[in-house]
Parts: sequence; C-alpha cells; structure tokens
Amino acid sequence: MRFLSLILVFTAFSILTSCRQEVRSFDQPQDTDLQADPDSVVFEQVKAEFDSFGFRVDTLQVNDYTIKRNESFYLILDKFNFSAQEIHNITQKAKELVDVRRLKPGQLYRTYASADADAGISRLVWQPNPVDYVVFEWQDSLNIYTSSKSITTTQESASATIHSSLYEAMQNEGLSPLLAYKLSDIYAWEIDFYRLRSGDNFKVLYEKKYIDGEEYGIGDILAVQFEHMGRLYSAYKFESEGVSGYFDEEGNSMQKALLKVPFKYNQRISSNFSYNRFHPILKQRRPHYGVDYAAPYGTPVLAVGKGTVTEARYRGANGNIVQIHHNSTYRTAYLHLKGFARGIRKGATVEQGQIIGYVGNTGRVTGTHLHYEIYKNGRPINPLTLDLPASESVPESAMPAFERVRQEYDRKLLDQQDEYAFPNPPLTHINSGLPSGGRNSSGALHTTD
Ligand SMILES: [Zn+2]
Repeated sequence: MRFLSLILVFTAFSILTSCRQEVRSFDQPQDTDLQADPDSVVFEQVKAEFDSFGFRVDTLQVNDYTIKRNESFYLILDKFNFSAQEIHNITQKAKELVDVRRLKPGQLYRTYASADADAGISRLVWQPNPVDYVVFEWQDSLNIYTSSKSITTTQESASATIHSSLYEAMQNEGLSPLLAYKLSDIYAWEIDFYRLRSGDNFKVLYEKKYIDGEEYGIGDILAVQFEHMGRLYSAYKFESEGVSGYFDEEGNSMQKALLKVPFKYNQRISSNFSYNRFHPILKQRRPHYGVDYAAPYGTPVLAVGKGTVTEARYRGANGNIVQIHHNSTYRTAYLHLKGFARGIRKGATVEQGQIIGYVGNTGRVTGTHLHYEIYKNGRPINPLTLDLPASESVPESAMPAFERVRQEYDRKLLDQQDEYAFPNPPLTHINSGLPSGGRNSSGALHTTD
C-alpha cells in the first residue's frame, strides 16, 4: 500500500517534471537539460506509466479491442491461443464472479502481454460498461476479480434562451437532453414545458461526471433559475434532516402533491373543464367536470399522486374507471380506460407516476380519450388551473443551512450570468428554418370532439 502511494506520488511528480521540461525545451535541448538537472535521476527511476485500470503500460504490450458480432468469450480466448481445456477452466472459474455470456458486441477489452510475443497474454480486462471492469490475470495461477473506475464529479453551469422548444435550446448549447428531462421533472407542477414562450430562459448549475478525464454523463441538477413568461422560478437541491429534494428560494418544496398531467408526456386536450358544456352525445348543455385528453389508444395512464385506489371497475357511461384517494383533500378519477394495469383494484395503494391503466374508449364516448377529474374536498375542480400547495418545506431548523446552500448556488449562477453577458461567440442561436413545433404540437385548449 505504502509502495503504491509512493509510486503514485512519483508518477505525479514525473508528470509535473515532464510538463516543466516541455516548457524549458524551447530554449535549450532537453538532453543537456536532463543531465544538468539533479532531479533527473529520480525522474528516470520512476518513469513508470499506468493506465486507467492502474496497470503498468510502459513495459508491456497493451492492445485494445472491441467485441465483434457473434464473438464469444470462447472465441476471444481462442484468438490468444488458449486451448479448449484452458478456456473451459477459465470459464468455470469466472462463473463464481461474472457471467461471461454477458459479453456483447461493442464492449471493450484490453490485453497485456510481455515483449516476448510467444508468452501470450498475461492479463485481459473486460469492460461491460464504462465504469465496471473484470480482470483476468494469469500469473502463477489464474486470478479473476471485478473492480470499477472512480467517477469524478464537477459542477458546471449553463444557460440558454428558448426560441421554439426546450430540447432545441439544449441542443443549440450542446447540452445533454437528459438535462431537459431533469428540468421538466423539477418543474413538473410549476411550468408546463409544452407551453414555453419564446424568450423563456434559464441558468442551471449541475453535476458533470467524468471517468479517466472523459465526460461520462450528467449527475444531479443543483440549482436552476428558470424565467417563464417574465416570472422567475428558482429551484435548489437540498438535503437535510429528513427532507430532500428541490426547493424554491423560500424553502418550499418543488415536488407537489400531484403531477400536472396523468401521462409521462403531455397529451392534446380535446375538451376542457367547463360548468356549462354542450355534450356531443347527449346534445344538451351540462357541466364537464374534467379534462379530456385525446391520447392514443393504449397510452399508459399514471396516478398523479400516491394514494389508495377506491374504485377500479366498469361503470356504465364512465366505462372502465379508476378513482384514487390521495389525502383528505384530493381524489382523482380516470375514465373510459381500455383496461387496468396489473394489481390495480379497489384497496390497492399506488405511487405517484405508477401506471394504473391505459387510454381507451369504454363507456359513453365519441372517440378514444381519457377523461380526467380532480376533486377537492368532494367538489370537482379544473385540473389545469389548480394551484396545489407544496408537499413539504425545509424545516425551520434547517433554514440556516438551506440559506448557505442557496447563496452559494446563486453566486455560481451569477458567475454564469457574467459569462452570458459577454457573448463571444453568442451562447444562443435563433433557429430560423424550422416551424415552432414545440408549442404547436401541444394543442390549444378550445377544441372539442
Ligand atoms: Zn370528458
């Protein structure tokens, strides 16, 4: 262990040294410099190079491969001149630790061999994914073990202005689409991301993950300031004393009690909530105590909040109906379903976002749609204008800690703003060639079926 850390220190030192020499080599030849440098002896001794798996690569022949189509573990080892019996033994031993049948085309592996080509490979590292790897090492005996690379996380900030859609704004900035997904998750209740306005903009602070210095993906969003229709919506990630999630600048939770729509993706509204609507089948005026979504047949319908199923059956004009009791204040109903999801029956408990059924056309309908209702204290209310209270706030005792986090994130977002105010090259691009599909496809509220 101590030896290893020494090597690491020396390696770091050698990197530093080599950097320094690179700079100096401009004014004099490097060889002379090395001789003159008393440190050069140390430098020569520890010039070992290690790869990202921690293995020496300077004294060994290292080769990288990508697994080809139809290439099995057997075929790979066969390529390196292992006998059928040896391959059988290796596979048997590997069984305790890994399933070599999980080898898939496109996955990477690296082999290590001594300079003597006849000796064969002494090590094989298989990477089923960018993080985890399996080492097969042939020394006195075969040694197999699994390990994983360390992931470094940094904080990055970005900003963008929306011209047609959030997705496009993300693309223009070279940002991950996953970031758009996470944003819409945080603001699930506050902002309808299918009805953004041109000019809406945001600044975001988020985690970026790296493996071996290469970008691996994004982590959590830490803070966002989203300006929508001239109003600023801030969100901060915070964890303390049993609370965890996203909170606004006052410490109110962003996670509302109910989802904004009972779908994973927003659907076109074919008939709005109304106290006095002309009924297309009954040909008379009567209230429409819900919202109709013209979603495709079979689209999964989600429970908008956790709760207990109080009804899941076929009921006349309503067709297949699910009702969920969320809390003492709210219940929701989902009508005309094609059928129910597995386990959805009276008395079952559901989680927010759980699939409860599928859009259909059962009961008295003119076409396939979901009729969705929210009841507040027993009275039907318009789901589209409902202003729900936050589910859980930062407790008073944690507010000082929350304030510190908020101020730190605000400062970092402000730094981003300074960069933003100095646009060279510009950070936003106006897309002129395309129709603004993002908002058109969301559907207007006034169409009826
Ligand atoms: Zn309806």
